[in-house]
Amino acid sequence: MAEKNKAESSKKIRTRFAPSPTGWLHLGNARTAIFNYLFARHNGGDLVLRIEDTDRERSKKEFEEAIIEDLKWLGIEWDEGPDVGGPHGPYRQRERFDIYKKYVDILLKKGYAYRCFCTPEELEAEREKAKKEGRPYRYSGKCRHLTPEQVEEYLKEGKPYVVRFRVPDGRDIVFEDLIKGEVKFNVNDFGDFVIVRSDGSPVYNFVVVIDDALMKITHVIRGEDHLSNTPKQILIYEALGFEVPKFAHLPIILGEDRSKLSKRHGAVSVRQYRFDGYLPEALLNFLSLLGWYPKDGKEILSKEELIERFDIEDIHNAPAVFNKEKLYWMNGVYIREVLDLDDLTNRVINYLKQYKEHLDKEDQPVAELILQKPYEYIKEVVSKVRDSFFTLKEFPKRAKPFFVDKVELTPEAVKHIEKITPEVAKQIVELYLQKVKDMETFKGEDFKKVAKQVAKELKLKPGMVFKTLRVALTGETQGVSLDLLVDVIGKEATEKRLESFLSNLG
Ligand code: GLU
Repeated sequence: MAEKNKAESSKKIRTRFAPSPTGWLHLGNARTAIFNYLFARHNGGDLVLRIEDTDRERSKKEFEEAIIEDLKWLGIEWDEGPDVGGPHGPYRQRERFDIYKKYVDILLKKGYAYRCFCTPEELEAEREKAKKEGRPYRYSGKCRHLTPEQVEEYLKEGKPYVVRFRVPDGRDIVFEDLIKGEVKFNVNDFGDFVIVRSDGSPVYNFVVVIDDALMKITHVIRGEDHLSNTPKQILIYEALGFEVPKFAHLPIILGEDRSKLSKRHGAVSVRQYRFDGYLPEALLNFLSLLGWYPKDGKEILSKEELIERFDIEDIHNAPAVFNKEKLYWMNGVYIREVLDLDDLTNRVINYLKQYKEHLDKEDQPVAELILQKPYEYIKEVVSKVRDSFFTLKEFPKRAKPFFVDKVELTPEAVKHIEKITPEVAKQIVELYLQKVKDMETFKGEDFKKVAKQVAKELKLKPGMVFKTLRVALTGETQGVSLDLLVDVIGKEATEKRLESFLSNLG
């Protein structure tokens, strides 16, 4: 026994992420992938990527490609998979049908499975009867008792059939889930279940066992929605003499209204968050904390720090609530504090190049102007405004005054000028312009000084003068700090903007 334990503990840990390519990578599945990755890496093990594409109608190659791209974008790396190969391939289920067939034949031969020729009408009648009698439906087991001759005859007649697993009567199936603790099911809950459909295609609960066993998976970490599949899978492991892996079922993710996270809660795919200007590091960090929390309570964690700290025992056995505001905040932390300036500048530039069509309409021309500027200029602006944008998508909004020379007034700005009267606005801006022109140099630090002088000389409130200068320089009534703006655009552009404001006043 001691020897056996030793052998088990020295076995290389192998996990897998097994998405069905029927849509974009959902945040919940991304979290599953991340936990598998962190667990494998923390333990010096392997991660396998397997594409579960047995659903012919819903599986699409483009979704497989998108899932792989999004996983890579998040920073997840796998050791084996359809794109990188490996010793246990192929890694797409549709390419493994011959393998499955071999194991169906073994189960049939050994009597663990049987062919069921019941017609849809017969099954429907059974279902109706159960309903009338007020008991949950499960297959009656009628075809369990067919003689080999009867089976032979039906096959000769070409009668359609499914293959069912022969579930042992009355048994409890108990397993120790690494998150849920002891889990118990009784086989009466499900009855003889189908493992091959009448069109010959094998079903998920069957193929997943064959794959996990042949791919030598030691830990199956997946969403809680699969918990009730586990007892069926354990029966198949046992029938085929495969070693049963350890299971860990991750708690469900809820929206803030406490219902299951879905499209109703807004963006739920990794792709959408990419479009919305989120950083992969922030999303990875945030998703890692959905249901798991490090012992030391540190929240902003790099991938390496996550790997170092990840312990499956710290996963809570309670639903995790998806807090969008927190993700937004965390993305802001990465923008403000984590990325170095050149890295952040490049992310901004690449985002604007790649996802221009995802910007708000009014920001698209600003993005064009940004991309025409030299790198160093963009970098300087990024350094000035990195405190004020939380997603890459917001950058053009916050940085607009640094890039748009032709100032257009917002409705609020127009209102301000009307309120103080165009005459007063003209006085303020003319005097300010004169003073700037008289100066040899004009820097950010001079901005306020000169504005105060103007206020004093014209006997106006400084607040009103500042606001008017803001309107003249940016067209807006609120936004970036004007000394930062002046610092970046320089004396000449400042004068030009003031002049153009005056000429528009007429
Ligand atoms: N293909 C399944 C899904 O996407 C994964 C099942 C499993 O992890 O066992 O839900």
